[in-house]
This record gives sequence, C-alpha cells and structure tokens, in this order.
Amino acid sequence: MREGLNTTPLDIDGSRGEGGGQILRTSLALSMITGRPIAMRNIRAGRAKPGLRRQHLACVLAAQELCGATVHGATVGSKYLEFTPGPVRDGELSIDIGTAGSTTLVVQTILVPALAAKRTLRAVVHGGTHNPMAPPFEFLARVFLPHLHAMGAVATLTLDRHGFAGGGSIERDERHRGQLTLSIAPSELRPIEIVETGEVTARRATVVLARLPTHVAERELAIVREQLGFTAAECEIREISEGGTGNILLLEIERAHARELVTGFGEKGTRAELVASRACDELASFLAAEVPVGEHLADQLLLPFALAGGGRFRCAPLSRHATTNIETIQMFLDVPIRVEPHGDAELVTIGRN
Ligand code: ATP
Repeated sequence: MREGLNTTPLDIDGSRGEGGGQILRTSLALSMITGRPIAMRNIRAGRAKPGLRRQHLACVLAAQELCGATVHGATVGSKYLEFTPGPVRDGELSIDIGTAGSTTLVVQTILVPALAAKRTLRAVVHGGTHNPMAPPFEFLARVFLPHLHAMGAVATLTLDRHGFAGGGSIERDERHRGQLTLSIAPSELRPIEIVETGEVTARRATVVLARLPTHVAERELAIVREQLGFTAAECEIREISEGGTGNILLLEIERAHARELVTGFGEKGTRAELVASRACDELASFLAAEVPVGEHLADQLLLPFALAGGGRFRCAPLSRHATTNIETIQMFLDVPIRVEPHGDAELVTIGRN
C-alpha cells in the first residue's frame, strides 16, 4: 500500500453524461495517476451494446499490466468493474485486443499515466488502427502528439501495420489486425496555451486504400479538389495490401499554431463522393470557425492539461463527450476547468490562472 493515498474506492456511475467508454478510459487513467481505487457501475449504459466490449476490456487489461492492479469484473459484457491500481512501472507491454478494436483508445488509456509517472514504456498494441468512432493513427501521431511534445512529453508512435475496422464491424480475421507501438521516456509535463490559429501553412489529402479499386480514391480526391480547392500536389493515394479492406480519406491542415486532421471512413453502400464530401464539409466548418483546437482534440487535451496543472485552449463549443470528460476528471482531481464563451467559440482554462 502506498502512503498518503485515499484507498476508499471512488464510486463512478458510468451512465453519467454521455454514458460511453470515455468515462471508463479517463477513470482508469486517473486511478493509475492518483492511486485511488475505483468501483464503476453502469458501464457504457448510454450505448446500444452496454458493458465492456473487447476494446474496452483491452484498455482495462493494459492498465492492469501497466500498474499491477487488482481487478474484478474484467469480462466482455461486464457492467461493473473494480480496479485497485499499484504504482505505474517501467515496462514492455504487449496488448492484443483480439479483434480490430481500436488500438488508439488503448493508447489514450495508458499514455498520460505513464507520462505522469515519468516512466519508460514501450507498448505494442495489436488491433484496429483506423476505426470509426476513434482517433485514426494519424490523428494521434500528427495532431495530438505534437501538442504533447510542446508540453514536454517525450513520446513516439509508430504505425507498424494498418488494421481497418470497416463500417463499424470488428473483423476477427488475424490478417485484418494492425499494430502500433508507443514509446515513452521520462518527461515532465508543463502547461501550454493553444489560443491563436495563424495562417494555413500546409494542406494534405491522403487516401489510404486497401484491397479496393484505385478509382475509389481518385473519385474522393476529385471531390476534395472541387470542394476545398486542394491542388494535385496536395493529394496522395497510398495503396496498401495489409489490414483488411480499407478506404480512409485523411484531410490534414497545418496552421502556424494549430493542426487538424479530419477523417472520412469509406463504407460498403456509401458512395466515394459522399464519403469525401462529408469530410470536406467537416474540414470547411473547422476552418470557418477560426479556432486552433478541433472537436476531438478538445476532449483529448483535457487530461494532459489537467495533469500539467494548467493551460488554456480555444475551440468550438465543447461536445457532450468533452463535458462528460471534464466531469470525470473533476471527480479525481482538484483542478478547476473553466469554460467561457469567446465569440462563437469557447475558451477552456485549466488550473488556477
Ligand atoms: P464507446 O462507448 O462506444 O466506446 P466512447 O465513449 O469511447 O464510445 P467516442 O465518441 O466513440 O466515445 O470517442 C472516443 C474517442 O475517440 C474520443 O476521445 C474522441 O475524441 C475520439 N475520436 C472519435 N472520432 C474521432 C476522429 N474522427 N478523429 C479523432 N478522434 C476521434
């Protein structure tokens, strides 16, 4: 038992707010960071298939491996979980989700606790690398991680093999599973501000295509050029033969002080033009909002900012996902998080400044 810790399990109702898997991942992370055990009920009560799915179970098991936790209720379908953490340790983890469930959400669970504990970690995660409803690999590597680097984190992510989970279905075939590797060295997180946007300095549209005809990618990029005015030099088709069947359109924007990456997930029965035009609309509204932080980045920055003890960012009005995440963070940490209107946008201030 570590000294000075509150060892009374924190009772967490997983049906609060949005009632999804984020309450679980953020709670696991903060349980490891604070040493406080958790007893979580009504897990994912707000979702069509409530309880732990394979992907959420993988997050629990990864957390358990990282800190040697004692765990009860870690089975697929379980709506109740007890998690008593030990100290986060240096490690070499190998986590196999067992399906094409999202590897990036496993990263979301273990990355910040390992940084907060100033540990050396190498984690190899097998599963999906490009899943609807989760950050695609490139979002973590090129949007989220650069901000963490600015905060002082020493962390790298590599995409070892693509793994697509098409149309929401989880492929069980081994050939469809991908792999990523997360490496972390001891580092100190410091507060930063992401308030300015600045000029657009680079734009890139990439279609990652696996086992589908090239014309799918060409039709998508034609829409990108037409709707957003991208040049041919800003468009790329990356054809690969691994990871199942995949069609992912990545629209990336770099500004002097901001980055965003919007993803179109192709799915059976949806025309390539529609996939592209939805993604273009999403990027156009991000650009029109003139904010440096997009919807998904906003909910993902909250935890590292709270751990750094402060910081500030400007974003479009927060999603319910993000406000639920704020509530979860505040159950564990005495860190004020203030959300104020700022024109059509919002200013999120973390810490006592
Ligand atoms: P579930 O209960 O089904 O597991 P969830 O609570 O995990 O759902 P989601 O809304 O699926 O919640 O989001 C999971 C995480 O993935 C969030 O951090 C969100 O920001 C991120 N995310 C989802 N889609 C994208 C995307 N297209 N780009 C970047 N990040 C994304």
